Amino acid sequence: MTITRFAPSPTGYLHIGGLRTALYCYLVAKNKNGKFLLRIEDTDLARNSKEAAAAIKEAFAWTGLSYDGEVIYQSNRFDLYKSYVQKLLDEGKAYRCYMSKEELDALREAQRAAKQRPHYDGRYRDFSGEPPSGVAPVIRIKAPQEGEISFVDGVKGEVHFKVSDMLDDFIIARSDGTPTYNFVVTIDDALMKITDVIRGDDHLSNTPKQIVIYNALGFKIPQFYHVPMILNHQGKKLSKRDGALDVMEYKRAGYLPEALLNFLVRLGWSHGDQEIFSMEEMIQFFEPGHINKSASAFNEEKLIWINSQYIKQLDAKRLIKELEYFNLSLSNHPKAHELIDLLRDRAKTLIELADMARAIINVPSNYDEKAYKKFITGDALANLKVFNQTLQAHEPCSSAEEFEVLAKQFLEEKGLKLKDLAQPLRIAMVGGAVSPSVFGVLDIIGYQNVIARIERLIDFEKYNKL
Ligand code: GLU
Repeated sequence: MTITRFAPSPTGYLHIGGLRTALYCYLVAKNKNGKFLLRIEDTDLARNSKEAAAAIKEAFAWTGLSYDGEVIYQSNRFDLYKSYVQKLLDEGKAYRCYMSKEELDALREAQRAAKQRPHYDGRYRDFSGEPPSGVAPVIRIKAPQEGEISFVDGVKGEVHFKVSDMLDDFIIARSDGTPTYNFVVTIDDALMKITDVIRGDDHLSNTPKQIVIYNALGFKIPQFYHVPMILNHQGKKLSKRDGALDVMEYKRAGYLPEALLNFLVRLGWSHGDQEIFSMEEMIQFFEPGHINKSASAFNEEKLIWINSQYIKQLDAKRLIKELEYFNLSLSNHPKAHELIDLLRDRAKTLIELADMARAIINVPSNYDEKAYKKFITGDALANLKVFNQTLQAHEPCSSAEEFEVLAKQFLEEKGLKLKDLAQPLRIAMVGGAVSPSVFGVLDIIGYQNVIARIERLIDFEKYNKL
């Protein structure tokens, strides 16, 4: 069974690069009816926090990416890791090294002076004498001393690391007994039966070390995919200045989670020239072997465009629910769905959608001076007054079409053009001369409120006159 995992270190919020990795892991698992696991790598007790782990889970909940089973916390597994360190010691595949920090520094210094790569020289590898007193040993693994460590990465292709360039008998447990990063990642990936390790390519150079550990413990080596990072327009590492990095900031900025996931899936992967993917399509089409080899550039306009596409087509009920986060409750509004349908083509974000909706459902707090002076002239007010009487004499209109039929009849009788009525009406309804279809707006405001808003404008003209 295919099992993938996302393994964040909880040092802060969930980064969008991390979310993209998580999405890729999720898609690979779901495509194969496998499992997607979440493992919090919180062994660095000084740098990790519970808040950060909670923030990661909150971001997952928002995006809708669900993981299988319980979250695994590495900090609960120290005993397990220690038992594997002990196993390697017992089998003679790891050993205690009593070299002091000063000795190690001196060794490195000498190597540098001799133009050699600084590395541990293996002096305690076969040590059987009396250990120096007062030194708490570290545990080192017996790594290959020559040759290459190679593997076929699903993104990068064949990768070769020459032992003499980068490997020595590296530390798997520190002198205080705590296991090191590469050790715990390997133990967990093996015990969690991860088949496909998908992660950022900043981890590529850890992989040969992890392979040494897999081999020492006789564990099966998973398929690795190292994903290039996300860059900014200048081709530099994405930073906070290039846009929000915290996934939850996208929520606050009015993006839909499916739009963000859709944006991220395309950032580093493609399927023909398709841009919009439902989650089902992503699961069906995503192919980790087709992840781009080169880094992708973050493009905010593209994200905005994708978001607007989702706002255009998403179920109105869902949008209404999302708008609650922006303090707009439409659930009791009788024309909530019509309102969404009237506005959805014009809004690029949920914030815009909420603002536009508020501009219609709230009585205008003021009238736009420029529009007012331009359109509330001549007979405009007299026409509005008569139109209001026509409305009141008529039975209540309950759709945009009914308002339109009535208005058109009125215009014909009076020999007026649509614009003679539409702009003053807009100002009366929303305070300015810009709105979607005026009849749609009237329908949402509702018959009684339309009459009241026209009266309000007439009163305003009487008492305040701009
Ligand atoms: N904890 C690592 C990180 O947050 C990921 C380790 C891995 O995926 O192997 O970068």
